Amino acid sequence: MLVPDTRALRRAFINSSRSRAASMSLPSAWPPPRADDLDFMGWADPRAPRRAYLALGGDADGDLVAVELRLPSASPSRARRTMCDLCQTVDAQEGALLMVAPRAGARGRAGDSVGLYVCADFACSLRAREPLKEHQRSVSGRPDSRVEDLVERVTAFVERVRS
Ligand SMILES: [Zn+2]
Repeated sequence: MLVPDTRALRRAFINSSRSRAASMSLPSAWPPPRADDLDFMGWADPRAPRRAYLALGGDADGDLVAVELRLPSASPSRARRTMCDLCQTVDAQEGALLMVAPRAGARGRAGDSVGLYVCADFACSLRAREPLKEHQRSVSGRPDSRVEDLVERVTAFVERVRS
């Protein structure tokens, strides 16, 4: 995806107040490596423990949308074997973490939220582009749709936050 600038990102949050969006920090490694290969960008806030963000769009496919997430306080060892809901692998070194997004608008203010497991390093897009492992190869010759599936899942998640 195109690397959004900080101002555009702050404006793109659908589930944060303006002041919260203003306090969002980017990681020191920004833009993320291989940005062209990313279907979405995700990062933990370097200055606010337990806050993370996910952003997608901002190109011909759609407007830039950003979502604020809460990270769990649980130890990473417990998360190690959990499958990521986005790339559907267990390959992230620190596992997949349950990330919870307050819903947009009044529902979110009333405490309603949606959660999903995401690779702790947010590198789902890169995993979806890795060569298929032996057991993943389709015997029927079905095309590899991991990237399309990932885009569909992350878009569906954002829509659930928005709705
Ligand atoms: Zn993943």
